[in-house]
Amino acid sequence: MKHLLVLGGGSAGTMVVAKLRPRLDVDAWRITVVDRDDEHHYRPGYLFVPFGTYGRADVVRPRRRQLPDGVAFVEAEVASIDPEASTVALADGRTLPYDQLVIATGSRPRPDATPGVLGAEWRASVHEFYTLEGAEALRGAIDAFDGGRFVVHVTEMPISCPVAPLELAFLADARFRERGIRDRVELVYVTPLDGAFTRPVAAERLAHLLAERGIAVETDFVIERVDPAAKTLVSFDDRVVPFDLLVTTPLHKGADFLAGSGLADELQHVEVDPGTLRSRRYPNVFALGDAADLPTSKAGATAHYAADVFVENFAAHVEGRPLPHAFDGHANCFVVTAPGRAVLLDFDYAHEPQPGHYPLPGLGPFTLLEESAMNFDGKMLFRWAYWNVLLRGHDLPFPTPYTQAGKRAEVAR
Ligand SMILES: Cc1cc2nc3c(=O)[nH]c(=O)nc-3n(C[C@H](O)[C@H](O)[C@H](O)COP(=O)(O)OP(=O)(O)OC[C@H]3O[C@@H](n4cnc5c(N)ncnc54)[C@H](O)[C@@H]3O)c2cc1C
Repeated sequence: MKHLLVLGGGSAGTMVVAKLRPRLDVDAWRITVVDRDDEHHYRPGYLFVPFGTYGRADVVRPRRRQLPDGVAFVEAEVASIDPEASTVALADGRTLPYDQLVIATGSRPRPDATPGVLGAEWRASVHEFYTLEGAEALRGAIDAFDGGRFVVHVTEMPISCPVAPLELAFLADARFRERGIRDRVELVYVTPLDGAFTRPVAAERLAHLLAERGIAVETDFVIERVDPAAKTLVSFDDRVVPFDLLVTTPLHKGADFLAGSGLADELQHVEVDPGTLRSRRYPNVFALGDAADLPTSKAGATAHYAADVFVENFAAHVEGRPLPHAFDGHANCFVVTAPGRAVLLDFDYAHEPQPGHYPLPGLGPFTLLEESAMNFDGKMLFRWAYWNVLLRGHDLPFPTPYTQAGKRAEVAR
């Protein structure tokens, strides 16, 4: 019997096994998922934790229960991979051999990578919201904040969901208005990019929304360190950004066991062919979700579209047929711009986000690059769809490949 080993039982790992289990003969294929714990986190929900909309119970469910019947679950830390021998070593001393391997261990914030972040002000005036513990701690800090410089910062791309820090800035703006203290708050968004987003048309639209809300933007800021005593961010070109409350988005890295494995780049993201998701060096190794070095957004939506393509390709691969589909990098993200309002971005490797309607041309119901209440409802309904549709291996009524239908070509000024 052949063995498909999936490392990581988060969004990508769970969606992949939910789709593959019914496709692979149970007498021919054993499937195992390895994850370090039994808590599946709906990570997009972290955005709402600092504002009290969601708590732990809304974003965490038992991991085992999200996996389909016929899939074994091993709760253990992955320690290393030997791709030459096709084996994975676990931290508890066990070794798991595989015929085919899927790496879906995501990408994690590394506050330790920037000097000073984990200093005396960590979780006092220096926060992050890319972990549940961080988002919970930030809630207390936002509630207690009574005015001053509130700085939202991105260290370096790629990060999971590159728009989430912008959303946090928009929601903080709304919260401070609601509390009647907005005139005492200087809100600043600090980014290593030359604009609010990685692609020019969306960057222009989002910059307009930031300006409308009085959120200042500091671009091209490549951080060297945080100075906890002076409460400042210091860049390599000696710019200094003071803060009273900092929400930083740390550098992201793939899992540590990928370092030195011969599979990954310097940020420990697995180097794959962007069309097939197969390792550039080992034909029986694939990577999905945030763990892969794909030139598109690290997003749950991307993992979902990639899983669709991967399942067809994997079935062909194990039957010795050519891989039928090429993944196009399709991604979409709802960007919350205020409570009850959001814009939607839809793009792929080749096309940047454009205005228009999605998924039905001319009808929507979602509006691309334009704020609407419907987009916000889409964002909030997505949590239900995640647990009940996507993790079960079912499809949403949106096409997997990117399409230009319904989009108006716009050029950034
Ligand atoms: C604040 C925030 C907001 C977001 N908003 C959105 C959004 O609005 N829309 C959207 O589409 N996406 C959003 N995302 C991104 C989305 O959550 C990720 O893209 C998605 O979770 C990636 O899935 P994954 O399976 O690759 O990684 P994960 O879901 O992170 O799963 C990785 C799994 O691997 C396990 N693992 C890692 N290392 C090891 C090891 N050594 N041993 C054993 N197990 C290991 C982990 O425990 C984890 O369960 C957001 C993310 C964040 C943090």
